[in-house]
Amino acid sequence: MARERLYLFDTTLRDGAQTNGVDFTLNDKLVIARMLDDLGIDYVEGGYPGANLTDTQLFAEERGLKTIFTAFGMARRPGRSTSNDPGLAALLEAKADAICFVAKSWDYHVRVALETSPEENLASIRDSVRAAVRSGREVLLDCEHFFDGYKANPQFALACAKAAVDEGARWVVLCDTNGGALPHEIEKIVGEVVKVIPGDHVGIHAHNDTEQAVANSLAAVRAGARQIQGTLNGLGERCGNANLVSIIPTLKLKGEFADRFDIGVSHAQLKTLAHASHTLDEMLNRAPNRHAPYVGESAFATKAGIHASAIMKEPATYEHVPPDTVGNRRKLLVSEQAGKSNVLAELDRIGLKVDKDDPRIGRLLDVVKEREAIGYAYEAADASFELLARRVLGKVPSYFDVEKFDVNIEQRDNALGQRVTVSLAVVKVKVEGETLISAAEGNGPVNALDLALRKDLGKYQSYISGLELTDYRVRILNGGTEAVTRVLIESQDETGERWTTVGVSSNIIDASFQALMDSIIYKLVRSGAPA
Ligand SMILES: [Zn+2]
Repeated sequence: MARERLYLFDTTLRDGAQTNGVDFTLNDKLVIARMLDDLGIDYVEGGYPGANLTDTQLFAEERGLKTIFTAFGMARRPGRSTSNDPGLAALLEAKADAICFVAKSWDYHVRVALETSPEENLASIRDSVRAAVRSGREVLLDCEHFFDGYKANPQFALACAKAAVDEGARWVVLCDTNGGALPHEIEKIVGEVVKVIPGDHVGIHAHNDTEQAVANSLAAVRAGARQIQGTLNGLGERCGNANLVSIIPTLKLKGEFADRFDIGVSHAQLKTLAHASHTLDEMLNRAPNRHAPYVGESAFATKAGIHASAIMKEPATYEHVPPDTVGNRRKLLVSEQAGKSNVLAELDRIGLKVDKDDPRIGRLLDVVKEREAIGYAYEAADASFELLARRVLGKVPSYFDVEKFDVNIEQRDNALGQRVTVSLAVVKVKVEGETLISAAEGNGPVNALDLALRKDLGKYQSYISGLELTDYRVRILNGGTEAVTRVLIESQDETGERWTTVGVSSNIIDASFQALMDSIIYKLVRSGAPA
């Protein structure tokens, strides 16, 4: 039997971005969009062009993605024509493959929030969808408060959805905006909707206010919906959106769904899921949830004893799916085996050929463990891991020595009588027996140190001229008796390659210095700079 296509729609960059404390830069959005594209997500909703500068810029760029890149915005305002609504105009101008309108579908909201008539709300939906279809875009309609609206007035809620489909919308998305609906309600209501609108035009957008967003999404699919909207890690306002990181492997690995449906994510792409989930956390400067289903560090951890020995013989005894299918790893807290195979896999990925019985593998594993115990995070800092591995395997030239550095912070009045804080760094470097001293003022001590360090590296200067820092993240870790600081630095070079390095210390400058040094040395190694 041919399997049906089920579509995935990610709204991390739009609905997820509405979360308290989340503020994506343009670069963050591009990185996340690429990651979702690589994962095989059908639709990526990038944001709300015209509503803020970042989103307007995002939709002015050519992005070169395979995914259907979608712009979000409001249906035309009541009492206006489509040609006289600046919000709608910005949406139609955006470089987007699809446009997702949001409109009311609960009569109570139409009356109280929009202060307009049900007829005008329907006309707004029809006009907006028609205008976007005419502009050659694929069109979606998010029916806001659909389930609450349907409970109050099913005819009106359905009429809103039907109006969009009749005008050529590809999808109507039923939204549980307040997040209070339960799975059996969702299944019943979606079942009624698909009698009127074919299920392959119906999507589900669930919020997690009763912790049912994943269950609600699956219930909607059981009832006939064929598009699921959600976010990475369930990011979203209040209690979050439906978590695609839990939904995707469930659809891909659980028979009831896997046998019936095809999704755009291949098994190879599914293996990048854990990495995508952790990358988002790192960008948000959040510690990943260790207990996250499928991708959490503890999702496949087994304690010593009878479980561990059974799992070694037959993993299926204690695992509901194989951890590597989602890019996670089995963690046997007594065994070195799991860690060793992980390290070997990493070395292979980097391109370092080592025999699996080489004693240096065990040594590398010990060093990684020791350093992770004090706060280093190698999963997030690929470049620092590579350097560490190359050092243990004896393959990193000693290019230069930093003999000393000195960072001064001074607060004083400037010539205009304003209070300013100025940072000055002086670095003394030895390259091929020659001592070079550089000084730089910077916007903060780390910036000053970075500028001074990269100002003059003698014969290596040409190799690092294209190097720039693109992100800098600090986290205070509370391990043991005193807090330590972890710094992650993301760098980029003239070829567009990006890498992340890590430093850990009780002193933030020292932690930053380690990460800066790793970044420079990594660049020299990659460029093939002579020793
Ligand atoms: Zn939402």
